[in-house]
Amino acid sequence: MPEHSKKIVLTESDNQKSPSRSAAKLTPMMEQYFSIKEKTPDALLFFRMGDFFELFFDDAIAAADALDITLTRRGQHGGEDIPMCGVPAHAYESYLAKLIKAGFKVAICEQMEDPAAAKKRGPKAVVRREVIRTVTPGTIVEDALLDARSHNFLAALSIMRGGEEAALAWLDMSTGDVNVKSVSMQTLSASLAAVRPTELISPALEMLGPWRDILASVVGLDKLTEAPDAHFDSSGGRRRVMKAYNVSSLDGFGAFDRAQCAALGALLGYVETTQAGRMPSLSPPRQMDDAAAMAIDAATQSSLELTQVQSGGRKGSLLWAVDETVTGPGARLLAARLVSPLTDVGAIQARHDAVAFFVESNALREDIRAMLKTAPDIARALSRLSLGRGGPRDALAIHDGLQAARAIAEKLTNAASLSTPPALIQKIQDVLENREEGGFSQLMTMLGSALRDDAPLLARDGGFIAKGYDAGLDATIALRDDSRRFIATLEAKYRDLVGLKSLKIKHNGVLGYFVEAPPAHGDKLMAPPLNETFIHRQTLASAVRFTTGELADLDAKITRARDEALARELELFQVLATEILQEQSALRACAGAIAELDTHAAFAELACNHNFVRPRIDDSTAFEISGGRHPVVERALRDAGEAQFVPNDCALNDEGDALVWLMTGPNMAGKSTFLRQNALIAILAQAGAFAPAVRAHIGIIDRVFSRVGAADDLARGQSTFMVEMVETAAILNQATDRSLVILDEIGRGTSTFDGLSIAWAAVEHLHDAIRCRGLFATHYHELTALSSRLKNLRNVSMKVREWKDDVVFLHEVGAGAADRSYGVAVAKLAGLPAQVVARAQILLAELEQQKNGGVDTLPLFAAAPPEIKPSQAEAEVSALEDAIDALQPDMMTPKDALEALYRLKDLRSQ
Ligand code: ATP
Repeated sequence: MPEHSKKIVLTESDNQKSPSRSAAKLTPMMEQYFSIKEKTPDALLFFRMGDFFELFFDDAIAAADALDITLTRRGQHGGEDIPMCGVPAHAYESYLAKLIKAGFKVAICEQMEDPAAAKKRGPKAVVRREVIRTVTPGTIVEDALLDARSHNFLAALSIMRGGEEAALAWLDMSTGDVNVKSVSMQTLSASLAAVRPTELISPALEMLGPWRDILASVVGLDKLTEAPDAHFDSSGGRRRVMKAYNVSSLDGFGAFDRAQCAALGALLGYVETTQAGRMPSLSPPRQMDDAAAMAIDAATQSSLELTQVQSGGRKGSLLWAVDETVTGPGARLLAARLVSPLTDVGAIQARHDAVAFFVESNALREDIRAMLKTAPDIARALSRLSLGRGGPRDALAIHDGLQAARAIAEKLTNAASLSTPPALIQKIQDVLENREEGGFSQLMTMLGSALRDDAPLLARDGGFIAKGYDAGLDATIALRDDSRRFIATLEAKYRDLVGLKSLKIKHNGVLGYFVEAPPAHGDKLMAPPLNETFIHRQTLASAVRFTTGELADLDAKITRARDEALARELELFQVLATEILQEQSALRACAGAIAELDTHAAFAELACNHNFVRPRIDDSTAFEISGGRHPVVERALRDAGEAQFVPNDCALNDEGDALVWLMTGPNMAGKSTFLRQNALIAILAQAGAFAPAVRAHIGIIDRVFSRVGAADDLARGQSTFMVEMVETAAILNQATDRSLVILDEIGRGTSTFDGLSIAWAAVEHLHDAIRCRGLFATHYHELTALSSRLKNLRNVSMKVREWKDDVVFLHEVGAGAADRSYGVAVAKLAGLPAQVVARAQILLAELEQQKNGGVDTLPLFAAAPPEIKPSQAEAEVSALEDAIDALQPDMMTPKDALEALYRLKDLRSQ
């Protein structure tokens, strides 16, 4: 929450900047403003005044600054001007979007009655106003404010009995998906990293204790909305959930413990408050089981860059490289699957079957994907309709979505005659057709005949009900259109009557229909006999305007017909919305099926276009990858048109091949790429995708850990080394014999001996105590000696070829330890000055010599730094280079050029 909005708390004790009601005698309007503002202290108040939403006091200062709009003043309060700014009501959404992005919450206060109705109560009566909704980052549902391809989660964390029990509940308001799971201090980071809430409701910060650090590092304290203890009451929470779903017991949804009820209660309570009592259409709360998903903690997610790269942004992440979905809901599901792969062999194989089905037939896949492309986002449209914020285009989206679903189901049925679709596809097919409840035909027919194809976004202006759907509406519209046509007849009649060709009948919002004549003819119309027909209304510099009895009658008729038509359209819209909402659970399931189908077809597309293979998944502890590739590095190299990616094998198991691989090799040789690619292959395979390899056999992995020697985390006030050790501790404490652990250069943040000892002990622990599959990259060559003692440790290295004094990276993983680290050679490649490289080579040689002789001090005084002079050859080269640099071809005559050539030849032969 930006500082600005936090300042705005209106209490008696506030100073001048935050005015209180008691500070001055208030106008009735200001009285109303303050009473509403008091109830929404942490949100900017959008106060509707006619055609504008206006903001006052600190709200105005903060909003004007964030929106870059003019800050003005309006009236006085307590002897001081009131700061004010405003945004037009018809276009407020774009301003809202900016404020929400900037981290503000916004309370929308609407006029709840016609100003004319208020006037009837007395001259001083103010229009009734109410907050109809508080918009917060986690509760938005408008397409304009959302990313179609990303979920927007609102979460709540409950912590009970001093931390013994805790639960995380989360909801995407825009789709109505509700989830809950029990968490512990150890698992919270992975859960939060997978959910990535844009807003999290938590107990007061001072009550969070050690949980606070996890929230701060994974979510960020600026995304927290603190709620009082009472909101996390578990029995109140249970009641709230039952009320939201209109059930008398939660048993039908599963068994929820106290912490889960508290988290769900706080979540739904917040939704109710921000939506001013309206609840969106919600799916029953789904209980997520930790054992059913591969745990990937926050540090691992960030290290592997699953959905975004470490510097932020999607480009360069695994998601970026593998997302071939063609619908927003499909993209959201795919992202969710990547951060939460499965651990159940059967469920994973079912997904692979579905992908294989689409891999087998290119034509079917292409057809289905083309149909999916036309399917609108049913879930988001449904959510808006349930909140009363939907428009005709949302109803149309439901219709078009169902139409696409039907076409897709038909296509799948036809395809079934060629090869039987796997169980998962058959299930999807049933849901798409809503077979259990007799299909969507009725709803589709109704929406199809009711809505015009060009239905507008909002219902308020009408014009979306198709002709022929409602006889009453058609009659009213005909009346309106006939009357409009009659106006043209009337115009011709008046032209004849006055004898004036330029006479026109026009319309505006103030006068309605009127007759307009040029000023020179005004007198004629105001004089007898024409003044019997024409009644003067307005004289302008450019025209004189009149009305007539007939025109006024017509005007009234048209207005009445228009209002009636609009009212009828709105009425019909409500009926449509109600019908849609009656089918909400089947519609939600259909939306889910479309998303799911999209992910399977997308993984198949990926597999076909980029040579991914179906991995073999079972309950063994195998990890055998042949010709594995890093999907992101491979794609980046391909996009850049650079060298081909070099595939590599990896085999980790305690039968035959080693369980832990210790990898050495120079910097830049591809160690990190190799380590990560294996973790990514496991994640993709268990998420239901095929794998970027020639062959892959993976025994279920329960957790993946990936750590790289950490960067300074200044924000958390921890040193590089501390972060590294905290993360290493988490791995060594949490990894099981089913985990995959990747450690990249652990222990480099401290002195050589400390680092080496820690890395050494960590390898031993992984190998002896945990016995998990692991890949360990290190620059401590000393560690390679461990392989003689640890039975299941195997040394591998990245191959390089030496050529003259340079190294060439082959990116190939080979057996055995690297013979040396090539650090100086890599430094040379990086462009270190020749003198520094030469000096480093000398020092390295001396250090190595001393080490071999058993001496362990730095050669600080042993060898005076030799003066490094350019060698004869280098001097020649540089004289030649200098001469070439001095040439200015544009300024030369042919003769000059010839002479220059001779000079260069001379230099070369000197
Ligand atoms: P450092 O120790 O400095 O972190 P590293 O040995 O871990 O280096 P990587 O960062 O994995 O090296 O790889 C360096 C670059 O080499 C990559 O950005 C990529 O461009 C290229 N590379 C790595 N592996 C391969 C491969 N298998 N095929 C082709 N290019 C590769």
